Amino acid sequence: MRIVLLGPPGAGKGTQAVIISKRYGIPHVSTGDMMREQVASGSELGRRVKAILDSGELVSDAVIMDVVGERLDRADCASGFLLDGIPRTLGQAESLDRLLASKGRPLQHVVQLTVPEGVLLDRIRQRGTTSGGARSDDSMEIAAKRLEVFWAQTAPVSTYYRKTGLLREVDGVGTVDEVSERVFRCFSLKACSNLVE
Ligand code: AMP
Repeated sequence: MRIVLLGPPGAGKGTQAVIISKRYGIPHVSTGDMMREQVASGSELGRRVKAILDSGELVSDAVIMDVVGERLDRADCASGFLLDGIPRTLGQAESLDRLLASKGRPLQHVVQLTVPEGVLLDRIRQRGTTSGGARSDDSMEIAAKRLEVFWAQTAPVSTYYRKTGLLREVDGVGTVDEVSERVFRCFSLKACSNLVE
């Protein structure tokens, strides 16, 4: 299975990604985690992207595509993968399509978790108080910036996949299990761009 999971910050992508990847035995490829690992390792790339992560802005398409391209070439992605956090821009969506087409391994599912903005802000606020500062980008100010960046740069990605017919929208409000059930139902539907409730 080759899957992309879309949704704004706070939609629960990370939580659902872990469940989906376990269920299908595919690696969870999170560009946010990969960027945070770079920062933690103190690598040259990590030093360059730290300020970007802390500002809530996006890392450049070229850097992200490089890192992801290399990750997808690893052996564990042979049986498929679940992409979380990418594509974040139209440019990334197009590059990803080209990259996967060149390997003869196009995407099979694009699932978007849909959550109202008020709920997103509540969740992010909670994450900021319970993560003990694990994520330096969880302050409300940065969260608001990340949401703004999402609506401006990432929301068009949904339109892109809607046009290609791959997009499935899932209601992301509910318990973790309820949302995963909706996501799993999506994988068994042939073509459905309706909200799965
Ligand atoms: P995430 O954990 O997915 O919310 O990502 C955390 C941060 O990493 C984002 O706010 C961006 O600064 C950066 N990042 C992660 N994925 C991407 C991407 N696909 N394109 C650009 N920046 C990204």
